[in-house]
Amino acid sequence: MSSMEINVGNFLEDNRCVVCSGRNELHMSWTPLDPGMRFVVCPNDQCKDFAWLDPPMCDRAMQIMLRLLRMRNNMEKEILTRKKRERMLWTTLGTNWVLFVILLFSQKM
Ligand SMILES: [Zn+2]
Repeated sequence: MSSMEINVGNFLEDNRCVVCSGRNELHMSWTPLDPGMRFVVCPNDQCKDFAWLDPPMCDRAMQIMLRLLRMRNNMEKEILTRKKRERMLWTTLGTNWVLFVILLFSQKM
């Protein structure tokens, strides 16, 4: 991660938590309520201080972001479906080759 200046809420510019001095972690939310919003959180289990980095989005940006998220999720589902189908086709092909070889040798005997 490149050096970034953070000065939001309880977080210092050097990216350390003010409460416990732990090194903050930068994350991005992918929930439908806050899609694409960056936030920093203290990794310390006792502290868990938290702050948003980005200002709230306008309604239009939110609509577009949610639509993009839905499209991405649908594409991931389609990829999983196609991978399952590919696996099934490879299994069928392998089975056919085994049966073909068995049939070939049984005719020669
Ligand atoms: Zn902390």
